[in-house]
Amino acid sequence: MKAVVPNGKGKVDIVEKQIRPLQPGEALLKMTCCGVCHTDLHVKNGDYGDKKGVTLGHEGIGVVTAVAPDVTALKVGDRASVAWFYEGCGRCEYCTTGRETLCRDVKNAGYTVDGGMAEECIVPANYAVKVPDGLASPEASSVTCAGVTTYKAVKVSGVKPGQWIAVYGLGGLGNLAVQYAKKVFNAKVVAVDISDEKLAFAQKVGADIIINSKNEDAAKIIQNKTGGAHAAIVTAVASVAFEAAVNSVRAGGRVVAISLPPGAMRLDIPHLVFNGIEVVGSLVGTREDLAEAFAFAADGTVVPKVTLRSIKDVNDIFTEMEEGKIEGRMVIDFEHDHHHHGKKHAHA
Ligand SMILES: [Zn+2]
Ligand SMILES: [Zn+2]
Repeated sequence: MKAVVPNGKGKVDIVEKQIRPLQPGEALLKMTCCGVCHTDLHVKNGDYGDKKGVTLGHEGIGVVTAVAPDVTALKVGDRASVAWFYEGCGRCEYCTTGRETLCRDVKNAGYTVDGGMAEECIVPANYAVKVPDGLASPEASSVTCAGVTTYKAVKVSGVKPGQWIAVYGLGGLGNLAVQYAKKVFNAKVVAVDISDEKLAFAQKVGADIIINSKNEDAAKIIQNKTGGAHAAIVTAVASVAFEAAVNSVRAGGRVVAISLPPGAMRLDIPHLVFNGIEVVGSLVGTREDLAEAFAFAADGTVVPKVTLRSIKDVNDIFTEMEEGKIEGRMVIDFEHDHHHHGKKHAHA
């Protein structure tokens, strides 16, 4: 079967891999599609260690074609997801207290174990969250990482109905953060980016205020117009956005970091102390978070923006990502790949 792997030189190769036999507790998925995430770009570039040869992909959706004899959580024909949170130990202080994504023995798809950017993928049946009927696979793939990560971040932000939340960065994560914040949590949303196209799209999906921070001081405008946001979520891959987010919240506000620009952010300590501002990280979401995030997409409350692409385009997709050209999510289509010939197909 074909699989997308980092080649150790900053690119990915499409290689032939043999799938291993199933072990107890496992299920085999024939992959339908897999989204391309900024984290895949970091793994490909070796930013988190040498991952040459591992199959990328943690926004995978596939159909179960086989299960080990002891498996009860999935059956042949089910649709299931391949998420970054691939498996926890099930016993530690995090796994047993609803914080399983922080498990110290966690396995991550497309990083520590082979992921979903391949024609087939093995998953632990108890950890692969089922996709509800009524949610198309390309949209589901986007929820598997971008959706659940932003849904969880809004939860972690503690924003309440009618309060203001600022979303910094409106790419694959940000546009979903706007939708979950507005449509599920009933918050008022300020969207901040440097791209007018992305801002227009954010407005279309529910942002109340949009700010292009290329030429304007977003934090100052947010303070003036809202009295300071109650919370902020940072999905941008520039550390200046984190600093701006801290300056955009009111006293007692909470800033939730979910994107992963390498390096440090500057924090003004007296500003934090005098204003009781919290800065927290939030990592993807638990299986329950993912099931909830799927449900809000299945009923049409949240609509991920996805574009189906051929596996042959995968290096081009990473280049487009590095150049900031991608709106929504690029999703590799394994189901109809032979029809594609490298052309872009808009899905929704
Ligand atoms: Zn991701
Ligand atoms: Zn654990």
